[in-house]
Amino acid sequence: MRFRQTKKKVSTMSNIFQSELVKKHPSLPARIMKMDTPHGDVLTPAFMPVATRAFINFMTPNDLIETESQIILGGNTYHMLCSPGMETISTLGGMHKFMNWNKPMLTDSGGFQVFSLSKNGKICKIDSQGAHFKHPNTGKLIHLTPETSIEAQKIIGADIIMAFDECTPELGGREVALAAMERTHRWLLQSKEAHTKNPNSLYGFKQALFGIIQGGSHRDLREMSAEFVLQADLDGIAIGGEIIGFDMAKTSEIIDWVRPMLPENKIRYTMGVGLNPQDLIDVVAKGIDIFDCVAPTRNARHGSLYYGKPILKDNWLTFESDQDKNHLLIKKSIYANDDSPIMEDCECHTCKNFSRGYLHFLFKEKSVAYSQLACVHNIHVMQNVCLVMRELILGEPG
Ligand SMILES: [Zn+2]
Repeated sequence: MRFRQTKKKVSTMSNIFQSELVKKHPSLPARIMKMDTPHGDVLTPAFMPVATRAFINFMTPNDLIETESQIILGGNTYHMLCSPGMETISTLGGMHKFMNWNKPMLTDSGGFQVFSLSKNGKICKIDSQGAHFKHPNTGKLIHLTPETSIEAQKIIGADIIMAFDECTPELGGREVALAAMERTHRWLLQSKEAHTKNPNSLYGFKQALFGIIQGGSHRDLREMSAEFVLQADLDGIAIGGEIIGFDMAKTSEIIDWVRPMLPENKIRYTMGVGLNPQDLIDVVAKGIDIFDCVAPTRNARHGSLYYGKPILKDNWLTFESDQDKNHLLIKKSIYANDDSPIMEDCECHTCKNFSRGYLHFLFKEKSVAYSQLACVHNIHVMQNVCLVMRELILGEPG
């Protein structure tokens, strides 16, 4: 594949990726990390809204900035290969320029989508080389291997790219988890080799490569995988697998197994965590720095609005409110004539400007405006929880 090199100036961007510890919680593994990327700094804990297909439904980059989002997960490799395709992305100057998002960005290697698709053997097949699937519209066969995934991620041009992995299914048992882990390890080395040949994006700035720990729910496999990923000495460490973010008790246990092995100066990323605000509080307490999840925007679109705030409890936080499950269902008729915002002390654009009554009306009318306002609120709640965690760790409660 050859793609036109755009003449985008990189002189205004730094060409580094660095991460350093800012401060640790006095009694928990929770911490603040500073991550320098070519598109700016990130202070963790930081939630990454997910723009898998190079957009978040109903949200503009300005909306994302309004929610205090510092970094997003933008343009997943699998989806970008399908549409709009690498030629369009390279011609239009890479994902930052394409989406008009000028802040830090992480992209995924396509491993997770391959995992989802391979459940249907007719669409996608996995072998030792990689994954082979048919383009959903054209039927053209696409081969996703560690090398083609890294090459595509260089064209996408995110600040952080991921080693190609096989997401471990939970139902297969130990044998399946072991096979997925071993394959992930081989692919990690191939991903590293492809990245090391040219650590820059197509647009000239240096990209960070993160490795992914697999191993399912098996302690010995998780520890073995952590050791392997650490030996590869990449820029950051992710914890992946179907169970992560899905079963939070197990997620916390898995983090506890591997965290003692992880170096202090590298970013730790749990993939797919953030079904609700409490989940962020739980993984940060265990020493995790960044996370992503589609749930806040999906919940918002379906009428479930996060409601509550982080309360100090035993030197840490818990997300609490007087609402069932800490959310408010805007479709309920009790909100039809309610003049108050979703949450009185929420600083988001939606709560500062619109009533529950109006949002209830927009939801009933199936207005696109509802989805935008609801997504802004839910993402803002997630980012505010991150802010309160940072303030607590810094010892400067807001
Ligand atoms: Zn709000």
